[in-house]
Amino acid sequence: MTRGTRATVDCAALRHNLAVARRSAPSARVIAVIKSNGYGHGLLPVARTLAADADAFAVTCLDEARPLREAGLDQRIVLLEGVYEPAELAEAGALGADLVVHADWQVEVFESAASGRPVDVWLKVDSGMHRLGFAPERVPDIHRRLAACGRVGEIRFMTHLARADDRDCGYTRDQLSAMDRACEALAGERSLANSAGTLAWPETHGDWVRPGIMLYGASPFCDGRPERPPLRPAMVLESRLVAVSQRRAGDLIGYGGTYTCPEPMPVGVVSIGYGDGYPRHAPSGTPVLVGGVRARTVGRVSMDMLCVDLRPCTQAREGERVVLWGEGLPAEEVAEHAGTIAYELFCHVTARVPMNYVDTEANG
Ligand SMILES: *Cc1c(COP(=O)(O)O)cnc(C)c1O
Repeated sequence: MTRGTRATVDCAALRHNLAVARRSAPSARVIAVIKSNGYGHGLLPVARTLAADADAFAVTCLDEARPLREAGLDQRIVLLEGVYEPAELAEAGALGADLVVHADWQVEVFESAASGRPVDVWLKVDSGMHRLGFAPERVPDIHRRLAACGRVGEIRFMTHLARADDRDCGYTRDQLSAMDRACEALAGERSLANSAGTLAWPETHGDWVRPGIMLYGASPFCDGRPERPPLRPAMVLESRLVAVSQRRAGDLIGYGGTYTCPEPMPVGVVSIGYGDGYPRHAPSGTPVLVGGVRARTVGRVSMDMLCVDLRPCTQAREGERVVLWGEGLPAEEVAEHAGTIAYELFCHVTARVPMNYVDTEANG
């Protein structure tokens, strides 16, 4: 029996989710956000899968853009934080990558650059996230300075939504007004929407939407509303039971003895732990699927193992398949138990977990 711990990514689900983004924002072009190793799903496999359907890709830095070009992908690539030092402008130009410009020093990089191939820029407006970007009142001046630079090609506008994941919060409309105010007299395409904006805030669609998490099949929303977008989880994280034991009432389970068996009960041990990226903070009661049946974890998550209350599936034996998240058990639900978000769970799957790719719609 092998350990059986692995992640499987369904390329058909990635394409399905991109199609949902496109349908949600029919008048916009789609920048598929594949930073941080495709949200842990694998940079190149995700990029290759979406290449035919995405209008552009967004990544964080040159190290994430280079492999895309080396793989022969010729889509527009947007570097979401622009250059980190002046010398990077030359490589961005050579790769034909777009740069976000969010700070004065990045404007100066263009102003003092030697002549060369023009680079398209996305002028980052701080419409209310208060993280990166220029205050709305500074945008016309920054635009004028960039437009005067020989190394600047097309200028577009970008802002990031801070609270679009709450469908009952008016802050997104305030950000939209701030963005309108910033760019009002200026020509240039605009991009505002992340996944939540793409799905729930049509007024933010603009010319380009930037869905990330929804491509991987997780809902971006955190507002407790029951409506789930029609997305398909792209990743299944699974393992197997390596041990099944009958415990007595009062038995303590695992490190620290944090769980006490309330009655005689079967407890299973699953070959996955925080060394694989399963969140150590997931408390007793976090859902898993044992042979397709919903069960719950008990005790602390160890590095290589975790324990499961097998009372809902007393027939389960060693070798039984256990799904930690995926179809039938959204990563968002596990994340909520662990006090985090699906984004983090996906990014934390560690290198020792083999990542397999399937395509449930491939013919032949
Ligand atoms: C990560 C990111 C996105 C995608 O956000 P999701 O919530 O994953 O859809 C969009 N825009 C920027 C600037 C980002 O950093």
